[in-house]
Amino acid sequence: MTVQLGAHLSIGQGYAAAVRRVHEMGGNALQIFSASPRIWRRPKVAEKDILEFKQAKAKLDVEPVVFHSQYLINLAVDNPTSQKSITNLIWELKLAEKMGVIGTVIHLGSYLKANPQLGYQILLKNISAVLAEAPSNVYFIMENAAGNKVGQTLDELLRIIKSLQDKRLRLCWDTCHGFAAGVDLSTKEKLDRFLEIIDTKVGLERLVLWHFNDSRDPFNSHRDRHANIGEGYIGLDTFRVILNHPLANRVPIIIETPGFAGRGPDKENLDILKELIDKQ
Ligand SMILES: [Zn+2]
Repeated sequence: MTVQLGAHLSIGQGYAAAVRRVHEMGGNALQIFSASPRIWRRPKVAEKDILEFKQAKAKLDVEPVVFHSQYLINLAVDNPTSQKSITNLIWELKLAEKMGVIGTVIHLGSYLKANPQLGYQILLKNISAVLAEAPSNVYFIMENAAGNKVGQTLDELLRIIKSLQDKRLRLCWDTCHGFAAGVDLSTKEKLDRFLEIIDTKVGLERLVLWHFNDSRDPFNSHRDRHANIGEGYIGLDTFRVILNHPLANRVPIIIETPGFAGRGPDKENLDILKELIDKQ
């Protein structure tokens, strides 16, 4: 299998255990939290855990591994939350460098009650504050959002990249969030057009990750509820189109599905996706 396909898994048993588990599921890419996503305090990570993780990753050829940032993050406001968000993202990106993790996937947050013009300036300032202290060789990966959040449209994310001109700024496109926000990638022509927009505006190399999730809610519903692959409103066509597109399938894929047993991303979801890849 040449496609890099994996899952978001828990680090409850440690970083290396997550690498081993995705390998057992038949995956070769991995997304994890660096620490608890629900509390601000960041732990001290033991050197031996980093080493064990790097050895497992190299031995089992799980590449890339990417972090997903905390749910608490909001970079679109100017308040104590944004200050903690900046501090923790810098911590996480430094850890990513030490661990050989390519970067962290970030939900930028919400302007809340602020005027979006002013909010946008604050957002740029906060992202810059993270980048100023982050290592030079890890990615700050902005994920598209569903609902009333920053990054609902591709244009909004591309505008941030153009405004800041930093090579570490990259994109993760979540199929569920995109579908909920009215982006249809169900045919090759539509996907071509989507990739062409990215390529023309910022270069296609900025797209470094797909999140493959089906959607429990209809097209353009602006709701964010993931479904198992094939069980939601997106259906299999979109996944088949992306998996067989020569430019799109070079980008690693991570599932964040609820799982057929309700225990999170599983082998069954990965197997369904593998079946959609055309055999040569
Ligand atoms: Zn996602």
